[in-house]
Amino acid sequence: MSYTRAVLSRARQRLEEDNRKKEAEAAENLAKAYARLPRLRAIDRELRTTSAAVVAACFDQGRDPAQAVQQIRARNKELQAERQWILDDAEISEESLDNSPLCNLCGGSGYKDGSMCECLQELCRQEQRHALSPLLATGRERFENFSLDVYPERYYPSIGTTPRKLMQRNLSYCRKYAAQFQPGAGNLLFSGATGLGKTFLSACIARQVTDRGYGVVYASAAKLFADYEGVKFDRLDASAVEGYSVCDLLILDDLGTEMTTPLAVSSLYQLVNNRMLDRKATLISTNLRPEDLEPRYGGQIASRLLGTYELIVFEGEDVRRLRNK
Ligand SMILES: [Zn+2]
Repeated sequence: MSYTRAVLSRARQRLEEDNRKKEAEAAENLAKAYARLPRLRAIDRELRTTSAAVVAACFDQGRDPAQAVQQIRARNKELQAERQWILDDAEISEESLDNSPLCNLCGGSGYKDGSMCECLQELCRQEQRHALSPLLATGRERFENFSLDVYPERYYPSIGTTPRKLMQRNLSYCRKYAAQFQPGAGNLLFSGATGLGKTFLSACIARQVTDRGYGVVYASAAKLFADYEGVKFDRLDASAVEGYSVCDLLILDDLGTEMTTPLAVSSLYQLVNNRMLDRKATLISTNLRPEDLEPRYGGQIASRLLGTYELIVFEGEDVRRLRNK
């Protein structure tokens, strides 16, 4: 999983904050409990101090500590039982006083055995969903909510089938893509006019790939090129574009709607090329037809996109306009 630095650092920060908060709450609860129940404080003090002191004394006096240890065990058991009784009586849960880290698998560090613990992974997924919120705005972006009904059932000679059949195939292809996604999964090129569901289907993929624990970054072409331009002319920090190269899946939306400058073209070429060399997956959606790519972006980009991306053609009538009818 390759998350952007921003997602990772926010997730780590939250883990730290959550642990600190839990510790502070436990300390506060304990202070309140001590103020109310002096006996509880005395028991805790005795539990903390006596055993070590008694064993040390045995050593100092050259006595076998075994018998003393046994006595201490018995005494501790008594104290624990009394402590529990006091807590039960005061209706205080043991849990509310527990100041140990939230996750006992990693001790609150977020890492175990050299890899990311499930607790930090979950926070990364949440932070990433948050970062993708412009794309996942409605919460409905799931394959099961993709409605095929709006695609015409009449034959379109341009695609050699009906838009509904075409979209059925596209939907099942994308479902499989998201379900089996792994680093180095292939690249997709969504091509079709505005309002045919390209962004919605991209969002369905983004959500599922995110849920499966992979790093996903979404940007419109206009935003992405503006970021590269900002970095080039020192208006932005290099971190503004870091995510575009490190993430497991980059979703570049609306290619062709931006102001296509020479800088945009060279940024796109480098991005497409580097991601391919790094075996990172990219999903580009465009309202351009495949044959419009070359005049606009040049032969090198067009041949990369058409040669190594799976072309998914969208056809039909504007879904948004149909819905509004
Ligand atoms: Zn953990």
